[in-house]
Amino acid sequence: MWNVIGHEWAVRLLSASLADGRLSHAYLFTGPPGVGKTTLALNFAQAIVCEGNPPPCQQCAPCRQVARLTHPDVRLVEADGATFKINQVRELEREAALAPHSARHRVYILAETERMSREAANALLKTLEEPPEPVVLILLASDAALLPPTIVSRCQGLDLRPVPLRELARALVEREGAEPAQAELLARVSGGRPGWAITALRDPAVMEARGRHLDDLQRLLASDLVERWEWAAGAPTDRRALRELLDTWVAWWRDVLLIAAGQGDKIANLDRREALEAVAAWCPAVAARAFLTQALRTVQGLAQNVNARLALEVLTMDMPTAPEIVRIHGG
Ligand SMILES: [Zn+2]
Repeated sequence: MWNVIGHEWAVRLLSASLADGRLSHAYLFTGPPGVGKTTLALNFAQAIVCEGNPPPCQQCAPCRQVARLTHPDVRLVEADGATFKINQVRELEREAALAPHSARHRVYILAETERMSREAANALLKTLEEPPEPVVLILLASDAALLPPTIVSRCQGLDLRPVPLRELARALVEREGAEPAQAELLARVSGGRPGWAITALRDPAVMEARGRHLDDLQRLLASDLVERWEWAAGAPTDRRALRELLDTWVAWWRDVLLIAAGQGDKIANLDRREALEAVAAWCPAVAARAFLTQALRTVQGLAQNVNARLALEVLTMDMPTAPEIVRIHGG
């Protein structure tokens, strides 16, 4: 009874290692945000401490405690502020040395380990080199390349890829009660990331924000430089919000290129088809591709702490300008 959308191979592998008594001391689940790393890790933790059969039964007291994050032997550790700090790893080390409360193992899920400070990573490496016997560590990260190779090599790695869109859309209808059309749009916009799609289904603010980002983009296409810079001056500077904005823009420009290449059935932003087709008909593919590259570079730059406002000014400057004859519709 794994409550996971997609990733069947990972579920099979983890179930088998548990059934055969071949648990590793450390796992590393990698994949983009919202793809299902935390969900898979929590289900695995349930399977480890479950008292039912087959595990995880989702019914027994330990399974329910894990789901509520109240099981005394299962901890989800998240970065304290912007980074994972050495104190958090030290506390984990101290606790991990103690015998489990009620289960046979202690399970630690460490979210976003790519945000670990160098000191914290060194401390964690020591724990990985000599793990206390009954401890299972599950490290989560968007990309193994962002972690020290010494840590990666000591973990069993499972790389989670986006879930096939049809499978995700079906799960959104069957498990989450979404309308079919809504499920189709959310699956595509999420790029196959169930966590993102479910959050967007439950919280209308997510799709509202996306709508605003796309309205801004479509308006800016028909705006002059002064208007674009005015917009950049008022744009969010919070990095997470900015990342969402740029990811939304990147997906939209990818759709323009898909339509230009005759692959319009594959676009993500189904509800913007009219505007996308208008832009694809007018904007040369080479200009769309150049802007897409620039947007991806901006995403990279923001990860490396470049000035957010300046980066947006440069990016909007490079945006193609729609001739007046093109009418770009909102959503
Ligand atoms: Zn159970």
